[in-house]
Amino acid sequence: MQEHLTTYDVCVIGGGINGVGIATDAAGRGLSVFLCEKDDLASHTSSASSKLIHGGLRYLEHKEFRLVREALLEREVLLAKAPHIIRPLRFIMPHQPHLRPAWLIRTGLFFYDHLGKREQLAGSNHVKFQAENSPLKTEITQGFEYSDCAVDDSRLVVLNALQAKEKGAKIETRSRCLAAKRENGLWKIEIENAKGRYNIQAKVLVNATGAWVTQFLENTAHVASEYAIRMIQGSHIIVPKMYSEDKAFIMQNDDQRIVFAIPYLEKFTLIGTTDQEYHADPNRVEITQQEIDYLLDVCNDHFKKQLTQADILYTFSGVRALCDDESDQASAVTRDYTLTLNHDVDQAPLLSIFGGKITTYRKLAESALEKIQPFFTNMDKTWTEKAILPGAENLHSVDVLVEQILLKIKAVSPETARRWAHAYGTRIWTILENISHVQELGQDFGSGLYAQEVDYLVEHEWAISSEDILKRRTKLYLDFTIEQTQVLDEYLIALHARRLQKDVA
Ligand SMILES: Cc1cc2nc3c(=O)[nH]c(=O)nc-3n(C[C@H](O)[C@H](O)[C@H](O)COP(=O)(O)OP(=O)(O)OC[C@H]3O[C@@H](n4cnc5c(N)ncnc54)[C@H](O)[C@@H]3O)c2cc1C
Repeated sequence: MQEHLTTYDVCVIGGGINGVGIATDAAGRGLSVFLCEKDDLASHTSSASSKLIHGGLRYLEHKEFRLVREALLEREVLLAKAPHIIRPLRFIMPHQPHLRPAWLIRTGLFFYDHLGKREQLAGSNHVKFQAENSPLKTEITQGFEYSDCAVDDSRLVVLNALQAKEKGAKIETRSRCLAAKRENGLWKIEIENAKGRYNIQAKVLVNATGAWVTQFLENTAHVASEYAIRMIQGSHIIVPKMYSEDKAFIMQNDDQRIVFAIPYLEKFTLIGTTDQEYHADPNRVEITQQEIDYLLDVCNDHFKKQLTQADILYTFSGVRALCDDESDQASAVTRDYTLTLNHDVDQAPLLSIFGGKITTYRKLAESALEKIQPFFTNMDKTWTEKAILPGAENLHSVDVLVEQILLKIKAVSPETARRWAHAYGTRIWTILENISHVQELGQDFGSGLYAQEVDYLVEHEWAISSEDILKRRTKLYLDFTIEQTQVLDEYLIALHARRLQKDVA
């Protein structure tokens, strides 16, 4: 008997920013979409970034003008799409004349200011530091200031997945694609999740597996890869807030690389990143002692406050899967993306994504849809540029939203109201429906996390484990103790069991 399989227009493998970006765009154009992610959404590179929506000043030196221009233009597009999770940030570059001359930096910043349209973001300027007020060492007396944006990277992924779902896409997490083969002009795709294995069919297969892109091509789809990738590890350290100003610092090092110090979650400073070749399993990337020393040294060369290893509260690492352009240095490998389409007459197409940045995910998705357009003659036009992401509906200002939450929910702390407003935007009212007092939010797990929010994250945002909730959905991981996490784990086990029972019944 012939197996009856659901057939989708597009099947996307990978729930990082590129996969969800493509799924959203495709679903919004009227295509039926299936996306599977082997772990949690954004659980790999897309939550290990420096969390910047930026043009990439440094890439100008590598003459990546196309990429920088596209990225610069995207800053304001994304800011308008998701003002709750993206915010403008000023960057200070201390001047180190022996590393780069002032004329070179001025020229770079001139291009940076003018390559892309700016309406909200201020232009660059020269700054002088006053020894007594500046967090920088007294010998650093001047520098430059310019604008970019900071983003909650993992929530950008979740919000895109949510939008894709609302446009009709099926998003399956903890679901690994085991095999994909061409059959009768379609792709037959085998998926494995906790319940077992099943097959679906798709007209087009999209390989958005990031660091696994060539592995997927060769071992899962059995297609030769046109390109090799270079995996470049990048690590960050998190320390208690180093300075009070709400600005980031971009520090030049004598190896020509740069390191950022970025204000993070009100109480912390995020320092990164490194660039080193990586040859091991991308599932398990960890900071090395060499990277820790490197980041501490660059910081200690610039700031009055001297950091030691004991100041480090947390570290995280990820790999950039970059298209190999045979550069000598890891930091010089192109950050631009490349899309390849594999197909022949009567053969179902396979689109693979190499490289990319968080900043350019929307444009990458548009390019992906352009590539597959010939297979869908009635596909709708581009639409994502002006479309807001979930939570930005009727959001006039995050500060006003915070005030509204404080007014409506008695006894809520300003810290929690602010976190909610940033994470959920106006979707917070779905979580807080019929709630007027903190006591009505159910079990209190600490640090402003209550059962009501946990239930919402499980029901609507694909959260399964405490790590999904603390690290990627709420960013409370730096506040939670081991004991508090255990309590949350127990609650989640009971919640999943109840949901399972309901499904069976
Ligand atoms: C240290 C560092 C700092 C960075 N900083 C910035 C920055 O500040 N700004 C910026 O714009 N960009 C930055 N980037 C780049 C950006 O983070 C990446 O380009 C982007 O996250 C890549 O997304 P992705 O979707 O391709 O990959 P991923 O996020 O890794 O997603 C791929 C997904 O595919 C899944 N997958 C793989 N195989 C299968 C399978 N068989 N079945 C199902 N699922 C599968 C994986 O589990 C994974 O979740 C940085 C990168 C690094 C490493």
